[in-house]
Amino acid sequence: MVAIDLHVHTAFGSPCAELHKPGTLIDTMKKRLIHGMVITEHNTMWPKQDIDALNRSLPEDQRIYSGIEVSTSRHHVVVIGLDDSSGIFPGMVLEKLLEISRKNNAVTILVHPFNTDAGIVSSGLPAIDCIEVASTMTIGEKQQKTCDLCLGQKAIPVAGSDAHCRENIGKAYTAFPRLPRNEKELAEQIRKGFGIPMFRGKNGKGIRAC
Ligand SMILES: [Zn+2]
Ligand SMILES: [Zn+2]
Repeated sequence: MVAIDLHVHTAFGSPCAELHKPGTLIDTMKKRLIHGMVITEHNTMWPKQDIDALNRSLPEDQRIYSGIEVSTSRHHVVVIGLDDSSGIFPGMVLEKLLEISRKNNAVTILVHPFNTDAGIVSSGLPAIDCIEVASTMTIGEKQQKTCDLCLGQKAIPVAGSDAHCRENIGKAYTAFPRLPRNEKELAEQIRKGFGIPMFRGKNGKGIRAC
């Protein structure tokens, strides 16, 4: 099994952390016991060449993937598997984002559904692929509520840390049978339900989140 943190912010798109520096990345991933992470900046994607350069500096058993967290009109949604962010902007209608994702064989993840301005998810949530059932925002009681929501929506449960700082990387992650080669393959594995949502307990042991 490999551990992939599906939701990580860096200094490129957030005001904290030095995660994007290749020199610290390998070290951070090793320390946090993860094999992969998806960089999901707010409403922007890293240039592909930067992701490629990072991956060239990583050993075979570690990988960085490119994603994005979009602040749609209703909720924050992480998308994995897009080639670029064309047509995507903050405040866009959620349904439009889902359409772009579908066209690109990407996968959509509703994140921290109980922490958005739009408030708690009410009825009428469109057919989103996955729900993030554990993160540094989704813990304790919220984690249970989010898991129930996921089951009710028949969405795929996944987990990612939503780390804005190094120390939070890998606090929640999704376990996969093997390390996907690229974003499209990662999206496919998620869609097929190969991922198991996990978070780290106090002793550092992985615990199934949902
Ligand atoms: Zn968010
Ligand atoms: Zn986030």
